[in-house]
Amino acid sequence: MTTLVETSSAATAFLEKAPLERYVAPEKPSLIGMTRAELADAFGHLDVAPGQRKMRVQQLWHWLYFRGVTSFADMTSVSKELRAALAEHYTLDRPEVVAEQVSVDGTRKWLLRLPGDPDSGLPHEVECVYIPDSERGTLCVSSQVGCTLNCSFCHTGTQRLVRNLTAGEIVGQVMAARDRLGDWPGGTRPTDGVVPSGERCITNIVMMGMGEPLYNFEAVRDALLIIADGDGIAISKRRITLSTSGVVPMIERAGAEIGCMLAISLHAVRDDLRNELVPLNRKYPIAQLMEACRHYPGLSNAKRITFEYVMLKGVNDSIEDAKALVRLLKGIPAKINLIPFNPWPGSKYECSDWEQIEKFSQVVFDAGYASPVRTPRGRDILAACGQLKSASEKLTARERLALRAMAMTD
Ligand code: SAH
Ligand code: SF4
Repeated sequence: MTTLVETSSAATAFLEKAPLERYVAPEKPSLIGMTRAELADAFGHLDVAPGQRKMRVQQLWHWLYFRGVTSFADMTSVSKELRAALAEHYTLDRPEVVAEQVSVDGTRKWLLRLPGDPDSGLPHEVECVYIPDSERGTLCVSSQVGCTLNCSFCHTGTQRLVRNLTAGEIVGQVMAARDRLGDWPGGTRPTDGVVPSGERCITNIVMMGMGEPLYNFEAVRDALLIIADGDGIAISKRRITLSTSGVVPMIERAGAEIGCMLAISLHAVRDDLRNELVPLNRKYPIAQLMEACRHYPGLSNAKRITFEYVMLKGVNDSIEDAKALVRLLKGIPAKINLIPFNPWPGSKYECSDWEQIEKFSQVVFDAGYASPVRTPRGRDILAACGQLKSASEKLTARERLALRAMAMTD
């Protein structure tokens, strides 16, 4: 690897880009992403009698989220009249898949197109990544186009364009991925690449794609509750993990209103260094973050918080750091994920040497944390943690080649 490492301790200014809030809705709204209450309202607008709405919602929910139909005509248990009325006012649109890349390790990355800005004519785009192995298939889902936070090691944070995704666009990523994978009842699975041996291709969801999920709380909450609903997609809350860079005031609400697993992007054990790596730390320093974690609703040894720690050579990877990490997490039911840094063109960091990662991980392992190192997946297609970036800032072919070369020399 040829990247130069700069471990400058100069203060990084806390920077938040202004979100681009201009969202141009398509002519007809999609039913995907509506809560049961919103679907009942939709039936109200179609003059369905109040006493029938609950039953109609249940029927529709089954077609939308259990069967995954893409056409109203397939909803055979719904009367023809009602199907026609639904089709007149609504769609079943999910985000449009505009590109698919398959890594040598079976990871798949999809570029998804969303309604954009009519002035510039540019659509918005997000990326969604599927990481299969023999037992599980994890879908890494985005919550925003870009990110307003600027963690110094993260590619997404360098993206100019930022807007919140709607609940429909978040659930829609799961729907689009299941469409591509033939992961609905009666579907045909891909014959290339890896798929898990069980009934389902997608068994786990991680909100670890582009964006800070707790800066888009309501949409993320509504989407995750739809994904977890037992009558539809039915991915249990134990298999859904929301990762945050540490938006302290929203952590309790996430536990109370969503109740999924929590991951914290910690990455440093001292405020001076975390201020530099995760500038949000200036607002919510480590002590406050740890306090919020201790009070995460439902926390127990069976429901631990995952602390993510990206391994940056010469920056946060000393044995002293490892010992301080173990001390910091004392008393919190926790798992530790050491993530080898995924390089991207222009990044000022280098991944820690493998020997150092092993030494660091030994300290963590000796303190009782199992398998702390997460093997990077999909680096060759820029699908690994922190490499996602989209919209108007696609990499040039040259940058892609540079990145691929960097990934291969690790
Ligand atoms: N915004 C949320 C979720 C998306 S980032 C968050 O920050 O938690 C998902 C994970 O990837 C986070 O732990 C993030 O810190 C990590 N990450 C970002 N850039 C990375 C990189 N270049 N290499 C490895 N991990 C990275
Ligand atoms: Fe945003 Fe998370 Fe990247 Fe930080 S690590 S810039 S919070 S996506």
